[in-house]
Amino acid sequence: MTLLTIGEFARASRLSAKALRLYDELGLLRPAAVDERNGYRRYAPDQLEPARLVAWLRRIGMPLAEIRTIVELPGAAAAEAVRKYWQRVEADVTARRRLAADLVEYLSGKDVAMSAQLAVTYAVRTDRGLVRPANQDAAYAGDQLLAVADGFGEEGATASQAAIGALQHVGVGDLLNAMDDAMADAAQLAWNAVRDMGDSGTTLTALMWSGARLGLVHIGDSRAYLLRDGQLFQITHDDTLVQSMIDDGRLTEAEAPSHPDAMLLSKALTGEHTPGVEVRDGQAGDRYLLSSDGLHRVVDADTIKDVLGAEEPQAAVDRLVALANAAGGPDNISCVVAHLIPR
Ligand code: MG
Repeated sequence: MTLLTIGEFARASRLSAKALRLYDELGLLRPAAVDERNGYRRYAPDQLEPARLVAWLRRIGMPLAEIRTIVELPGAAAAEAVRKYWQRVEADVTARRRLAADLVEYLSGKDVAMSAQLAVTYAVRTDRGLVRPANQDAAYAGDQLLAVADGFGEEGATASQAAIGALQHVGVGDLLNAMDDAMADAAQLAWNAVRDMGDSGTTLTALMWSGARLGLVHIGDSRAYLLRDGQLFQITHDDTLVQSMIDDGRLTEAEAPSHPDAMLLSKALTGEHTPGVEVRDGQAGDRYLLSSDGLHRVVDADTIKDVLGAEEPQAAVDRLVALANAAGGPDNISCVVAHLIPR
């Protein structure tokens, strides 16, 4: 009888040589002969059938210990053993299917419960202003995303639209899974969208909603404000040279607007910097404003607070744009106003 090498036997039985060595060690399938000098395993042709049986049993997921008992059984008993094994598998799958269905129900119920408590109403407006030849700002407001972006450079308008466009593709399901990770992904997407635009770039300030949680993505000198319990908070930090001088104590808030480099950004969405990300909790009654610098450079915080507190979203954005234009409209003006209201 011609014995087969382990390679020949592996090909014929569709088991890997590595698996065959393991089965030998486990006593599952002993080679017909082992060369005493070099340890090479050789198999007899009539071992192919038990070997194929092992391969098939592996394919239905049977553990090796169980396979070992089955390959030693006569045909009828082996058949009965396989039937019983499969019954157990199906019972197990049924139990897991039920658990999976329960989990799906539990998790989607959680989502409904959260968004059942809060609704968001919003309005968006972007305006060329009175001086700039074109509007390079972009702004967006939807059920899951609020964003403003202030583009600069030759491709500025493309950059601002691309940055917001990238965020529109981040699914809310992603946010539910892992808000922090999703925020980082969102920032990366926005960065990818504008990194090849040469000297052009954009600021980006965006809020993404998932129930009562919100993700804040920010880079540059557009801003997010929160009006809560009658107080106005600027919840973003300007990425500007003057702001870093204020942070270092080299400049006062009052001196900042008249500084010659007042307009210079220290960070923006270009090929260099990715946006910062943050996860926050929303409360019923919260009012948010996102604005490009064309608004908040010429309309002061007290006025913003009054308008935000008094007006519904659409009236508020109309009023804020009108105020910026009344102050000369020196830059493109964009704003998004959103109210978190109990359902
Ligand atoms: Mg601007």
